[in-house]
Amino acid sequence: MLTGRRARLNCVRRSPLSPPRSGTRFAPRPAPDAKRRVKHPLSEANPAPDAPVTVSDDRGTMRACVIRSTGGLERIEVADVAAPGSPALLGARDVRVAIRAAALNHLDLFVVRGLPGEYRFPHILGSDGAGVVETAGTDVTTVKPGDAVMINPGIWDGTCDFCRAGDHSLCANYQVLGEHLPGTLAESVLVPEDNLARVPALDPPLSWAEAAAFSLVSLTAWRMIVTRARVESGETVLVWGIGGGVSLAAMRIAKLRGARVIVTSSSDAKLAQARQLGADVTLNHRRQSVAQEVRALTARRGVDVVVDHVGEATWEDSLRCLAKGGRLVTCGATSGPLVLTDARRLFWNQYTILGSTLGNATEYAAVVRVLSSGALRPLVDRVYPLAEARTAFERLARGEQLGKVVVAVRGSAADTVVP
Ligand SMILES: [Zn+2]
Repeated sequence: MLTGRRARLNCVRRSPLSPPRSGTRFAPRPAPDAKRRVKHPLSEANPAPDAPVTVSDDRGTMRACVIRSTGGLERIEVADVAAPGSPALLGARDVRVAIRAAALNHLDLFVVRGLPGEYRFPHILGSDGAGVVETAGTDVTTVKPGDAVMINPGIWDGTCDFCRAGDHSLCANYQVLGEHLPGTLAESVLVPEDNLARVPALDPPLSWAEAAAFSLVSLTAWRMIVTRARVESGETVLVWGIGGGVSLAAMRIAKLRGARVIVTSSSDAKLAQARQLGADVTLNHRRQSVAQEVRALTARRGVDVVVDHVGEATWEDSLRCLAKGGRLVTCGATSGPLVLTDARRLFWNQYTILGSTLGNATEYAAVVRVLSSGALRPLVDRVYPLAEARTAFERLARGEQLGKVVVAVRGSAADTVVP
């Protein structure tokens, strides 16, 4: 299962330079002064020396979707586990969020199958979520208890050179909720304040399912299209596999940038929906040669940008589809990570190959502003109750969805958010 262990979707990849995981502890954040040292309440193994020893962490239990070992989807269970830190032991800039809904990503499938690195079992799954602020650390200023929030699942340390330059998703100690840290498929989760955005007020209001479905794919697609590939008005963009959340978000963001977008799928039903959502041209990659069709559609020129998260199965076709000087941007490798690139084609045509992973705080704020404007409203495929979380994973694994598969953690995910 080398491929399964290494292949990743939705653009989250552990840096080979990362030090061993420090369990459930968030990496330290920059502190304005010594009193603001961040302590993570789940870090029993590394208690801060000035922790108040007389306060017990009376955090109780909560329902969560967990695995106790890696392997097949049968490992997924819903169980009672320890809840995150009590108010007394909350880090100064940490926030405890009562999760209303959590959305699944392909990353979650790879976490279940097993990724390199240390797991702390029971491991809570889930990277995407939305909920209500329960408790905020003493130095938290941007949210307060009762606020409806969405979560940027990429946690950075704030201290490395990349973080100081604002490039948080390049952080040397980057960690992702549900992969390196306890995830969102739980009644409560702890996140740093900087990783939260208030759910914007839309008309009609967002549901909890929509709010939960927004962050990971929208942030990932934003960085790919806007920051990395720098798609401009009038350019042509090819997006593989339009059923996936990143692809759909990439298509919509490319359209907002004024590009012409060609999308592919093996499902005619998904292609029909993609046209309704703004795709200019749709290709069924099971029946059609995408490279040939793209050449025909572009008067043999090729496209300016290809968005590829599939890897082995599409890589060479992606390069064949590019115009001279074109850019290939990738955030995943669902079909396998080992791709073949003809170096002669690369230099002669002066292609640029761009890797991309999640995004930084500025990009997250930008894509939330776009959501606030009414664009990029997430598309929810189906919602399952927490008790049926494994069934939700099975739907994602079969690739049946168009839009996001969501799990309602508390109450109904169809309820609208009151920001
Ligand atoms: Zn860093």
